[in-house]
Parts: sequence; structure tokens; C-alpha cells
Amino acid sequence: MSDGNGIRKLESVVRLKKTMGDYFTRLRQAAESPGRRVAWCSSVGPVELLYAMDFEVYFPENHAAMIGVSKKAAEYIPITNAYGYSPDVCSYLTSDIGAFLKQQTPLAKMGLESVPKPDVLVYNTNQCREVADWFNFYAKHFNVPIMGISTPLNVAEVSQSLVRYISLQFQELVPKLEPVTAEKFDPDKFKNTVRLSKETCALWRKVLATAKHHPSPINFFDACIHMGPIVVMRGTRYALDYYKVLLAELETRIKNNAAAVASEKYRLYWEGMPIWFKLSTMAKLFDRLQTCIAASTYCSSWIFDDLDPENPFDSSALAYTKLFIVRSENVKQKILEKHLQEFSIDGIIYHDAKTCPRNSNNQHGLQVRLYEKTDVPYLEIDGDFNDSRCYSEEQSVIAIETFIDQLAMRK
Ligand code: SF4
Repeated sequence: MSDGNGIRKLESVVRLKKTMGDYFTRLRQAAESPGRRVAWCSSVGPVELLYAMDFEVYFPENHAAMIGVSKKAAEYIPITNAYGYSPDVCSYLTSDIGAFLKQQTPLAKMGLESVPKPDVLVYNTNQCREVADWFNFYAKHFNVPIMGISTPLNVAEVSQSLVRYISLQFQELVPKLEPVTAEKFDPDKFKNTVRLSKETCALWRKVLATAKHHPSPINFFDACIHMGPIVVMRGTRYALDYYKVLLAELETRIKNNAAAVASEKYRLYWEGMPIWFKLSTMAKLFDRLQTCIAASTYCSSWIFDDLDPENPFDSSALAYTKLFIVRSENVKQKILEKHLQEFSIDGIIYHDAKTCPRNSNNQHGLQVRLYEKTDVPYLEIDGDFNDSRCYSEEQSVIAIETFIDQLAMRK
């Protein structure tokens, strides 16, 4: 399937649209039905627990990324700034709250007039503290309970005592959530949800690992679109079923030597967040440059191998603390070294997202140390995931083209 610009779209995109469309329909129905409950969750929050307790689960970050893709964030951010949120804080937060205050949402296309009203908001600060600030705005607005897991950052070793500390916080959520659902927590349901999540993560890992093949059947831009179910539906059959379909298509592509990028010549690693408002422009740019972005930190961040249905609380604590974004610079470097080697990477692009230092790993010398260790060259791009005012397309395109020329000289 070609989009008319020579970019070959995955056929599974049809199934993806249906899977995501059905998810939003379930959310709408839950929001409209007095007997159902909606929980809002941060993107690497305790979603398995929420699905096990019969919530429909909504993710403000997914909504904010949709705002980014719709290119309307710059319209919404100043509205939130006027409420005292700095232009320097997370542009997911500022664009999402701004859209809410303006009573607009990209979910209108899915039949939702507004974001589904929460019955409870649940976060984990494993990714950043901003999710707590963000969710607190809505907890106050809707006058509903908010609760969270507090995870330390810059973690070198995920020790047993740390896992215990986080696991207890997971367990303490249960008696706080029960009055919201009016149902007793069922340990077997939780085990089953963790099992589904683990199996889905394993499939998502396989999907991303197909990019080790030369040429790669998938690139970063495809993965950014197809990661929707792993973010919002892990722990459900819907996501599991979807990734079986996607993986089968990618395996067929490998058999047929069909590439995501026509005439793949160079293979890059993307470090940092996507530039949502330039996703398709960038896909076309890299296709023209015969360059496949074969792997990324961002898309790999939703693989939770350590989940264990037989030990659901402790293993959730372990899985959600071992996450790349939680770890120390040394651990991050080792993870990146492994990725570079496994995916035969020629160069790295660091996206320095101005409103998310947590996801911009070129600010404390990691890029230099990694280069000294691996000799894999790198390029740093200033930008942002949602705030287009932080990004210069002209400068970035010139820098990327020059970088690819330099890679050509090294080959
Ligand atoms: S990790 Fe970054 S982009 Fe995500 S919510 Fe936190 S500050 Fe925003």
C-alpha cells in the first residue's frame, strides 16, 4: 500500500484504525453509562491494575500526541500559559489542558465530544513529575480522587528494597480504587491482565525486532503510529490480537525482502521523542535519503519483559522501574550500546525536545561518551514533540542531509 509519495504503508493500518476506533467507542460508552467507570492513567502507569478492576482506561498523553499530530498544539499552549504554566514545561501538558479549556479535542473524529470524564486519575512518576501536576489540574476540575506511585529517578540498580517500596505502593492503590469501582479486587483477574500485558509486550518486542533484518520491514515512523495499542490497551486481548496481525505482516515483508524505506542504505537510531507535528514530513525526508530509522528508545519503552502473572505486584514494580527513562546515565548508555549493535546502526539522531528534558538524553554528555565508546556518529536536533515554536525545519533538514552525506563518506 503506497501513500502516493512512494512510502509503503503497512496493510495492518486498516486493522489498527479499527482497534483504536473500538477503544475510543468503549471509552465513550463508559463515560456515558452511569454503571461504568473511567480511570485516567499516565502512559507507563499501572494500567494492568486498572483494567483488572474493570475501568475503561484513558491516557492524556495519547490524547496530547493526537493534538501534536493534528498540528493544533501551538494554538492551545498559550491558553495554558495564561493559567500560569510556563512555556518551558511539558508541551503535552500545556497543549492538552489548553485544548480542554478551549473545549476542543481530536477525539471529535472518533465520536467523542470531549475527553471522557474521569472517575479517578492514577499516575506513576517513573517518567516525570509533570504527570502529577497535569493530573492534579483535572482532579481539581472534576473534583475526583487522584492517586499515584512515586518512583525515584536516575536509578542505577533496581534493588530488591526499591522493588518492595514500589510494590507496596501498587498494593496500596487497591483499597483506594475499590470504593471508586464499587467492586472487590479479584487477584485472579489481575494475574490474567498481567499475563495478557506480558504476552502483548513480547509481541511488540518481536515487531520492533523485525527491524534487525536488512532491509528493515518497519521504521520509526511506522512504529510511532502502530504503538497506539501497546500504550493504551496492554493488558487486554485487543492489543494482543492486533500485534499478532502486525507481526505476521512484517514477517511476510521479511520473506519478500520488502523494505519500509525504498533502497535502504543507512540505518539510524532515534533517541528522544517523535516530532509529532512533522511525522509524515520526516518519514518522506528519510525515505528520500534512503535512510531507515530502524530503532528508537521511545518505541522500545513499552516492552515490560519482567511482568510475571504469578507475582503480579512485585513484577509490576520491577517492570515499571527498570524502564529506560528511570535509569542512570551509565545504565542508559549500556542499553543504547546494545541497541546500536543489535540493529546495525550507522548513526544516531538525538532529538533535544525543549519541553521534556527527561526524554532528551543529550544534555549531560551521554552522546559524547557513547560516541567515544562505539564510534557511531551522532546528530543533535533542537525541537519538541508538540510545540512547533521550538523547531526550525530548515535548519533540521540541512543538518540531517549533511549528516547523511557524512555517513556516506564513512561507508
Ligand atoms: S515524560 Fe516528558 S513528555 Fe512525557 S509527560 Fe513527562 S514531561 Fe511530558
